[in-house]
Amino acid sequence: KAKENGRDAVQAFSQELSDSARRKFLRAEELRTAIQNDEFVLDFQPQINLTTGLVSGVEALVRWKHPVEGILPPSEFIPLAEETGIIIELGEAVLRKACQQAKKWSMNARHRVRVSVNMSPKQFQNAGVIDHVKAALKESGLDPSLLEIEITESSIMRDIGSAAGIMKELTDMGVDFAIDDFGTSYSCLNMLKKLPFSRLKIDRSFIMNTPDDEQDCAIVTAILNLARSLKLQVVAEGVETIEQAQFLHLAGCEHGQGYFYSRPVGDLTIEALLDKQY
Ligand code: C2E
Ligand code: MG
Ligand code: MG
Ligand code: MG
Repeated sequence: KAKENGRDAVQAFSQELSDSARRKFLRAEELRTAIQNDEFVLDFQPQINLTTGLVSGVEALVRWKHPVEGILPPSEFIPLAEETGIIIELGEAVLRKACQQAKKWSMNARHRVRVSVNMSPKQFQNAGVIDHVKAALKESGLDPSLLEIEITESSIMRDIGSAAGIMKELTDMGVDFAIDDFGTSYSCLNMLKKLPFSRLKIDRSFIMNTPDDEQDCAIVTAILNLARSLKLQVVAEGVETIEQAQFLHLAGCEHGQGYFYSRPVGDLTIEALLDKQY
């Protein structure tokens, strides 16, 4: 009897597995169609200069306007896009849209802000990445110095040498690089020294419990000191309270981003924020 139950369980399990594989396959097909149908839209979240209170840049964050399921956050489709390689085409579309939008804003001198675009490991390691960035800049006419690319430590881990080559070619054109989610994975501090980053984004998990948690305050202060000696600017992610903003400003952090200032919003809403002083 027990054996029979076991067999049933195995059968049920393999049935489930193939169901999930099938679902994944269908979802991947859906993603490809969604790119063709232009179902991806960008929201933007402002980054605030903590000294002036002005918006210094915006981060582009992709959403899927799914025809049936509504607006889906990146956590619902970026991992699959990355796993299947679809991220390369999706990333190209995101780059193009972000550059076009930033160019539009930059026509108004007061709205000339930098746009930061996230790049996942597969996209960054893809042979066509330099051409994709060049094409997006050329097509839009955006000043390359208004584009920043955010990559995480995992994009570089595999091969520092090739990352260095890609980054050099793009920074020579004027594009900036930020290291995203700093502190969450294996940080090879050597890479900070060797690669041409201009900014470091402290992960939200370290900001969350400041200023109450002494250890997190110590970590943030240490990252700020490290960044200062390496001549990197710092953006704190996930700033949600005025206490956090004050702590960060006092500690010498240049930029903040988070719900305290604004959630990610559409392009029209951002325009109003670009005129605002926080
Ligand atoms: P990320 O690059 O670290 O982006 C910050 C995420 O934190 C965003 O989530 C943002 O909405 C959220 N956030 C900002 N401020 C706060 C805050 O004060 N509190 C809290 N709790 N959260 C805050 P989102 O938009 O869901 O994006 C999640 C991740 O998806 C991004 O993390 C990024 O890794 C990835 N992603 C987003 N857009 C793209 C894209 O175009 N390409 C690629 N490859 N990845 C993307
Ligand atoms: Mg980011
Ligand atoms: Mg981040
Ligand atoms: Mg993060």
